Amino acid sequence: MKKTIVILGGGLAGLTAGEILSKYFNVKIFEKESYLGGLAANFNHKGETIPKYYHHIIKSNKITQIYLQRFSKEVKLNWQRIKVSIGINKKINPINSFFGLLKFKYLNLYEKIRFGLFGAYTLFILNPKKISENLDAQKWLDKYAGKVVTQKIFFHLYSRNKFGVSLNKISAKQFAHRLYEKEIQDFFSFPEKGYQCIIDGLEREIKKNKGKIKINSKIQKINLNGKYLINSGKKINYDILINTIPFEIFTNISIGIPKPFKEQLSKIKYCPAVSVCFGSENFLEKGVYWTNFFNEKIHILMQHSVLSDNYKDKINWILRYGGSEEDLNLSEEIIKKEYLQVIKKYYPLSKIKWAKVFKTKYAEPIYDIKYPKYMPPYKTPLRDVYFAGIQLTYPQIRNMNVALESGIKVTNIILKDFFK
Ligand SMILES: Cc1cc2nc3c(=O)[nH]c(=O)nc-3n(C[C@H](O)[C@H](O)[C@H](O)COP(=O)(O)OP(=O)(O)OC[C@H]3O[C@@H](n4cnc5c(N)ncnc54)[C@H](O)[C@@H]3O)c2cc1C
Repeated sequence: MKKTIVILGGGLAGLTAGEILSKYFNVKIFEKESYLGGLAANFNHKGETIPKYYHHIIKSNKITQIYLQRFSKEVKLNWQRIKVSIGINKKINPINSFFGLLKFKYLNLYEKIRFGLFGAYTLFILNPKKISENLDAQKWLDKYAGKVVTQKIFFHLYSRNKFGVSLNKISAKQFAHRLYEKEIQDFFSFPEKGYQCIIDGLEREIKKNKGKIKINSKIQKINLNGKYLINSGKKINYDILINTIPFEIFTNISIGIPKPFKEQLSKIKYCPAVSVCFGSENFLEKGVYWTNFFNEKIHILMQHSVLSDNYKDKINWILRYGGSEEDLNLSEEIIKKEYLQVIKKYYPLSKIKWAKVFKTKYAEPIYDIKYPKYMPPYKTPLRDVYFAGIQLTYPQIRNMNVALESGIKVTNIILKDFFK
């Protein structure tokens, strides 16, 4: 008799684990939405498939590339270096080129040199492994980038715009890891047909292996002692449970988590994201993929069509992370109005053709300084309960690559535990 594995969440981590495990177990995946893919899901706009949130791939994301190639044989990845800008005081300033930085009036000459030297340090010398877990990003940046550059640049990028918590609460190691992974300096791409092929491919394979996937299934109660959960009033027994849903939800709906472990899981806080995806007649700023805004309502603009110019309109996202919890309950019309106002301010000639709002309360865990102390394990102290997903991937950058990797990791642990 095959054992039954229940997987909570049909995002990339849950689907990846489900695909491998469905060869050995009866797999049942429960997803609360009407679609699969979680944060990496897409929407349809007049026949075109567009990611709900910006989603680039960088050359070092090897696992994402393997999954793309598996499920889309003819996948074409055109790699390019990207231009990054900072938008401040109604002006867009390119910053990741020598001449761009030279012209950036917001920093004086000394600050530009410090900023440039810090960039060189992160490229050639930085080794995040040598950074203590107890060090906060403020102290580390003050030392290596200088106090003024930290305040003028990194406070905006990683404190105000990213997590919405002060730099002295953020892990230096995680921030350094971000720089070490050279996300900005790497080659960027977006596959011509997007990532839906991975989601569809995993779903197909799971079903081929007789696994079951239930969408529109918001799990509201799990009894860890009795090893069952309730879906639409029906009792579902499991032998093994894998959780990939945010821990804030998991701890609320589970009965039987011992107090100290529940306290550990409750420490994980999430950064939300509110995003407007919009089509414009032309590029807003030719060639610039990634713009960070300082002191504005929105934090970033991603001009998707710079990576992939295959749509009828130019596709863009504007987005707010930290602080966007105050927007989660606003109406879509108000969000569009407030966010797009910033675009009008910087690009008064832009012609916006349509816009859609997407929100999530759980865009990313907040990697605060204590995160490694309470990061949940893959194999838990709960009976036959395992975890996977982006909450377990510190200090790596949270992306599709680490979500896929964590799905694979949890399967390796389970296979070892049950087929020793
Ligand atoms: C704004 C934004 C931009 C991003 N940009 C990039 C990028 O450029 N490149 C990149 O590689 N990655 C990017 N990512 C990250 C990437 O999308 C995620 O790392 C990855 O998709 C996470 O997968 P996961 O399975 O761990 O979690 P999730 O996708 O969050 O999956 C969890 C699933 O659980 C479901 N769920 C929740 N509660 C319940 C319940 N009670 N019952 C049943 N199901 C439930 C959710 O609906 C969801 O489908 C971005 C993410 C965001 C938010």
